[in-house]
Amino acid sequence: MGNPIKDTMQRFGIKQILHYLEGNPEENIPKLMDLFDKFTPANWYRPQREAFRRAIQEEISQREDCNVPWAILLDPTSACNMHCTGCWAAEYGRQLNLSLEDLDSIVIQGKKLGTYMYIYTGGEPLVRKEDVLRICEMHPDCMFLAFTNGTLIDEAFCQNMLRVKNFVPAISLEGFEAANDSRRGAGVYQKVHQVMALLKSHNLPFGISTCYTSHNVDDVSSEKYFDQLIDCGALFAWFFHYMPVGNDAAVDLLPTPEQRVKMYNAIRTYRTTKAIFTLDFQNDGEYVGGCIAGGRRYLHINAKGDVEPCVFIHYSNVNIHNTSLLDALKSPLFMAYHHSQPFNENMLRPCPMLENPEFLPKMVEDTGAVNTDYQSPESARHLCEKTAPYAERWKPVADALWQQSHPGKNA
Ligand code: SF4
Repeated sequence: MGNPIKDTMQRFGIKQILHYLEGNPEENIPKLMDLFDKFTPANWYRPQREAFRRAIQEEISQREDCNVPWAILLDPTSACNMHCTGCWAAEYGRQLNLSLEDLDSIVIQGKKLGTYMYIYTGGEPLVRKEDVLRICEMHPDCMFLAFTNGTLIDEAFCQNMLRVKNFVPAISLEGFEAANDSRRGAGVYQKVHQVMALLKSHNLPFGISTCYTSHNVDDVSSEKYFDQLIDCGALFAWFFHYMPVGNDAAVDLLPTPEQRVKMYNAIRTYRTTKAIFTLDFQNDGEYVGGCIAGGRRYLHINAKGDVEPCVFIHYSNVNIHNTSLLDALKSPLFMAYHHSQPFNENMLRPCPMLENPEFLPKMVEDTGAVNTDYQSPESARHLCEKTAPYAERWKPVADALWQQSHPGKNA
């Protein structure tokens, strides 16, 4: 015998979907999702909801001939409570903020495009923890994640996470105690471990974000590091390749080809043997068809409101204070991404800045996009002069690795 409530909901859902699709999908998706959420117990129809959102995004993408993102990254603030060596936030005196109204408006517009995942970057997003929680309350149908140094998470914040249920922190870690504290300050490693223990004691989900560089790659690719993250209770670990972005960025922190291969092998090995979900944003392009920026999967809005294709690409034609999200997706630099992706058939060389440095300066210059760096504007040509030698060194190694792992595919 079927489940009568489920059957009724299924019929109801199908009727509503048809009705709303005939109408104005942009206006009606949030309403439809509200109906789903109101009338179905938690986790019911989750795959269906996801499939529906994807269908809407495809529909809008085709109709508007532009990318429509799955996630929006945004900086609620440029401010930070810490002073890490080499970080621009340490020297940047003035604070820039997206107001509560700005954040709300971005989420409302995003939902109309079928976007239900919002990821805070910064600055330190939890400098704005009250507004961050407020937005979670205002949009219970969305998921909010924050890249955070973790030091502002306390018992009261955990209680709020338990209450709102749609906020997940991704805490920055850069290896073991000595390496971590030499850059971030004495005692920070211990403090972050206390925070992870607190989150674990409440059974709250959290992950780790790690930037790998020529200096820490041995530590963060080690089995000991992965085991430690699992012991601490992390559900996921996201790895980011160091990017030499900014006029003063250190080029010698770029991993060598051998170091990048080491990271590639470690993550693929531990993915099958360790109980933690790992992603390496520079080496996992094959799962997402290469570069995901420019709204193809995500975009970034900085604390000034500039809409940038990627969290590492500080160039833009538009600002959210005087442009709609949809128009931003159709702005010249975003369309240049849309028309040029993928930047390489070899998914181990996905980036128009790091591995294909001939692309970014041309796209920026052709579209008249301006630099949006908070502190010291850098030309795309200057940035890509730093990555060109890296790209040259990585190409033969990446092509051999790609052919070895994908026999018969172009490199
Ligand atoms: S622009 Fe580069 S760093 Fe940004 S998503 Fe694309 S490949 Fe990744």
